[in-house]
Amino acid sequence: MATNRTFTMIKPDAYQAGNSGAIIKMIEEAGFRIVAAKLTRLTPERAGEFYAVHKERPFYKDLCSYMSSGPIIAMILEKDNAVADFRKLIGATNPANAEPGTIRKLFAKSIEANAIHGSDSDENAAIEGAFFFSGMEQF
Ligand code: UDP
Ligand code: MG
Repeated sequence: MATNRTFTMIKPDAYQAGNSGAIIKMIEEAGFRIVAAKLTRLTPERAGEFYAVHKERPFYKDLCSYMSSGPIIAMILEKDNAVADFRKLIGATNPANAEPGTIRKLFAKSIEANAIHGSDSDENAAIEGAFFFSGMEQF
C-alpha cells in the first residue's frame, strides 16, 4: 500500500548554487508538506552508507565524494502518493532525459550532480528518513 511520505535531499550542487529556496518553493507548490528538515553535511563514510545499494556500481566512489562535498538539506515530505508523485516532480536521474519543468531539468548540472534525491519506494522512504531523523511518529 502506498504511504503518504517520502524522503528528499537537496544535494550539494543545488545548495552551493543557491537554488534551495527555488526548489523548496516548487516542492511546496506541488502540494508537499515539509514534516522534517535539516541542513547537514555527510562524511564520505555516511554518504557511502546512504548509497550502499550502489556500492558495486562504477559511479559509487565519485558519488560518495560528491555527496560529501558540501552541505545538503534533508527533508521528509508528506502528500498523497508521495513517493511516485515526488519522483515525477524531480524527473529522470540524467537531466538530459528529464521532462521539461522538472526539478532536475531546471537545476541539475550533470547525471551525478543532479540537484535532488527522491526515495524510490515506500520502504526506502522510511529507511532513508530514519537515517536522518528520529522520533517522526510524533508528527
Ligand atoms: N549517479 C551517477 N551516475 C550514474 C547514475 C547515478 O553519478 O550513472 C548518481 C546520481 O547522483 C544519482 C545517484 O547516483 O541520483 C543514485 O543513483 P540512482 O540510480 O538511484 O538514481 P536516482 O534514484 O537518484 O534517480
Ligand atoms: Mg535511487
